[in-house]
Amino acid sequence: MKILFLHPEEKVFAYWQSLFKEHEATKDWQLLRPFEVKDHSKIEIALAWRPAPTIFSTFPSLRFIQSLGMGVDHLLGRDDLPESVVISRIVDPDMNQQMAQYVLYGALRAFRQLPDYNKQQRKHYWQPLNRFYPNNFTIGILGFGVLGQTITETLHTVGFDQIRIWSKSQKSTPLATSYQGEEELNSFLNGVKCLICLLPLTPETHYILNKETLSQVAKGCFLINSARGAHLKEEDLIPLLNSNQLSGALLDVFEHEPLPKNHPFWTHPQIEITPHIASKTNPTTAFEQIVRNIKKVSEGELPLNRVDIHRGY
Ligand code: NAP
Repeated sequence: MKILFLHPEEKVFAYWQSLFKEHEATKDWQLLRPFEVKDHSKIEIALAWRPAPTIFSTFPSLRFIQSLGMGVDHLLGRDDLPESVVISRIVDPDMNQQMAQYVLYGALRAFRQLPDYNKQQRKHYWQPLNRFYPNNFTIGILGFGVLGQTITETLHTVGFDQIRIWSKSQKSTPLATSYQGEEELNSFLNGVKCLICLLPLTPETHYILNKETLSQVAKGCFLINSARGAHLKEEDLIPLLNSNQLSGALLDVFEHEPLPKNHPFWTHPQIEITPHIASKTNPTTAFEQIVRNIKKVSEGELPLNRVDIHRGY
């Protein structure tokens, strides 16, 4: 079987190729980069991460694309996709756990007032502050999908009992208060002391973190964005931090990645930056589900973790 492999990093190809060769069931499958494909019309299956803008238009028989990550914004909103192509994404407990650890770190920084203590430290100033209590520390999670649900459980386990979730459709969970849709966004945001973005990037959620929405949260709210860079209107963030409307921000994703060397976020004392590592695809655990999906598609079945192309996630 010949499978197209699209990824901007060469070393990632070599890694995945060796994984396929190591396993008995897949050792004869060929992973090919575009320049290695002789007959484009024979390619039906692709594994992809951030593929080049028009690449799919040169593979007319493509019927299944497996995203190499959880997000699929890199595959949607483009006009080179063959009609009726099916797209799946990775859904992996290891990725849920990585994201839960990342968000928990940020939420605890906020709850234990580390941004304020860091400020005091820079001034060599010793002053215990009035603490927060879980019952007056509201955490708001934008998105209650695979990751939002895991994070709600994790935060609840460590004692946070004032959790709000915001999604498109009505949810019911004993762990959080549910809000949905644009009409309930302001009520959701009002009074939130730690805001966590775990939405997919779609035209509706683009720039959802902006000066209007971030002015609705409680003064001194801490922001965690580990979803996509374009959820945040970057130019709005620093004024909100400088006016203490926000106490700090933990950012894993940016509109332009890598974050440009001269970007003001690098040096702002209240911004903590990580290079899109909140939850990285683990090839070892992802491999099995990718192979399962390829087998399903080859046998005429639908793959698992299918994306709704029209909905955008
Ligand atoms: P998911 O399972 O698809 O869940 C998405 C959630 O967002 C759902 O609850 C959905 O509501 C809600 N939603 C979507 N559009 C909305 C809108 N317009 N208004 C209100 N709610 C909306 O997604 P996931 O697997 O949890 O992943 C979320 C995102 O995390 C991914 O898309 C990816 O971009 C990002 N991510 C980042 C990293 C990293 O390393 N930084 C790693 C993995 C994933 P409904 O439930 O009502 O449909």
